[in-house]
Amino acid sequence: MSRPVRTAVIGVGHFGRYHAEKFARLPGSELTAVIDINGERAQAVADAHGARAYTDFRDVLGEVDAVSIVTPPMTHYAIAEACLEAGLHVLVEKPITDNLDHASALIRVARERGRILQVGHLERFSAAGSVIRDIVTRPLYVEASRIGTFRPSANNDVNAVLDLMIHDLDLILDFVSSPIEWVHAVGAPVFSSAEDIASSRIQFANGCVANVTASRASLRSERRMRVFQDNSYTSIDFLNKKVRIVRRVPGATMNGIPALEIEETSYGDVDMLEQEIAAFLNSVRTGKPPLVTGEDGWRALEAALMITRSLRSHWQMIGEQTFHPRGAVVGRAAGE
Ligand code: NAD
Repeated sequence: MSRPVRTAVIGVGHFGRYHAEKFARLPGSELTAVIDINGERAQAVADAHGARAYTDFRDVLGEVDAVSIVTPPMTHYAIAEACLEAGLHVLVEKPITDNLDHASALIRVARERGRILQVGHLERFSAAGSVIRDIVTRPLYVEASRIGTFRPSANNDVNAVLDLMIHDLDLILDFVSSPIEWVHAVGAPVFSSAEDIASSRIQFANGCVANVTASRASLRSERRMRVFQDNSYTSIDFLNKKVRIVRRVPGATMNGIPALEIEETSYGDVDMLEQEIAAFLNSVRTGKPPLVTGEDGWRALEAALMITRSLRSHWQMIGEQTFHPRGAVVGRAAGE
């Protein structure tokens, strides 16, 4: 495709407006349309970038080549399916959908139509993502935490596992590269009706274990991961963009204790979203498979739903209803 890719962003709330900014700025993309069921919002973002505003995504199906879907997770499937069926390339935000059957259906339609389906697991485009890929060869034990403040959003329909933890699940599944054997998880709703805090232990078939925590019920923000392997560990502070690698020096001891060397580096600011969208545009132009495929999105969703089921199994079942131990009736897990 030699002419610019005609692009559109569907859903321009908190995060979608950044997608629109990138599509408007990146070479090889012509931001043609901005769609939001909130017409004023769509108009404001469209005006900022010289695009046309719509309130129904079906009105642009014949006018663009590729879309970003940045709407609430419950809506991803219906929108993505219609766009792929219409022959558009799709970048859909995480989680790919809220249930596995729908995720499989999107993968199938993309394959049948020969279209790119990329999922918005942003952290893969961070410098930390490539540090992990370079350094981690045989992970044995992983600790990850992703903690933030509560922000009222459409994402509160899904729990902190599908909202936040899924970023770490995608990274971990990518570098552990082994099926999950079992998960055990706990969590609780705090400010919304879904679990705002969750902690899980994941056992992989190759013996690796991961302890992963996510919370959107905190006053502070933290995003850290530590990966332990034979003779070294790597600690990543995603927020402050710092990496520390602690290695055993082969054969060296100090007073009979194995000598360690510590390497600390900072990595510069990488605009992850810009990288992600540039990679998507490149896949659209060249047909090259995306770095984060529909199948990757499916695997991360599968893990997130296993964790959700595990943490809900600790709640009391009374008749047909599930009760939180505090007594409040809570909804069913997304996708169950
Ligand atoms: P938000 O509630 O701020 O915005 C969602 C927007 O979608 C709203 O403006 C809403 O009016 C619009 N919308 C809803 N249904 C629509 C429809 N059928 N057609 C068109 N517009 C529609 O939510 P948000 O925080 O921007 O999150 C949106 C998506 O982005 C979610 O899937 C979320 O998981 C994802 N997200 C990803 C990251 C990341 O780091 N990758 C960060 C934030 C959000």
